[in-house]
Amino acid sequence: MIGAFVKGLSTTFKYLFRKPVTVQYPEVKRPVRERFRGRHELKRFENGMERCIGCALCAAACPADAILVVPAENDPQKPNSPGERYAARYEINMLRCIFCGYCEDACPTNAIVLEHQYELSFFERGSSIYTKDMLLIPADKGHGEIPPILQQLDRRPSPPAQIDL
Ligand code: SF4
Ligand code: SF4
Repeated sequence: MIGAFVKGLSTTFKYLFRKPVTVQYPEVKRPVRERFRGRHELKRFENGMERCIGCALCAAACPADAILVVPAENDPQKPNSPGERYAARYEINMLRCIFCGYCEDACPTNAIVLEHQYELSFFERGSSIYTKDMLLIPADKGHGEIPPILQQLDRRPSPPAQIDL
């Protein structure tokens, strides 16, 4: 009995002076791995234009049907994104999302990215719908040049094919 007691205490004392492996969350936050998938962000190009071109490939790829994209035509005088269309409405239902990253993989412009934010708790079901306003990053936080294939606003229609019958 005494032997077991001393043995138990020795284990306690052994760990008393070791560096703790626990973290005092939420005061202390451990950095996550680079490949961690957290809350989504909608990115911009370096000039502030939205990367999202409203193609809805992310919504098609989503296995949980969590994404809603409603595209609209860009105003050529004041386009929101390069190309013909932009996402007039973009929503993600975070109650459905399983953080698989398929939306990220499907996106041709790297517009939707699962970033490192993991504090996603909310108190009402309505708060689980993340809107475009919540997802879109500020205009001065963009990166990267617009690829030439997206510079299509001035594109002329192709001439009719010349076919000799
Ligand atoms: S991470 Fe997966 S489940 Fe979540 S929105 Fe993207 S494709 Fe859908
Ligand atoms: S986030 Fe990407 S895949 Fe989804 S609609 Fe926008 S451009 Fe298309």
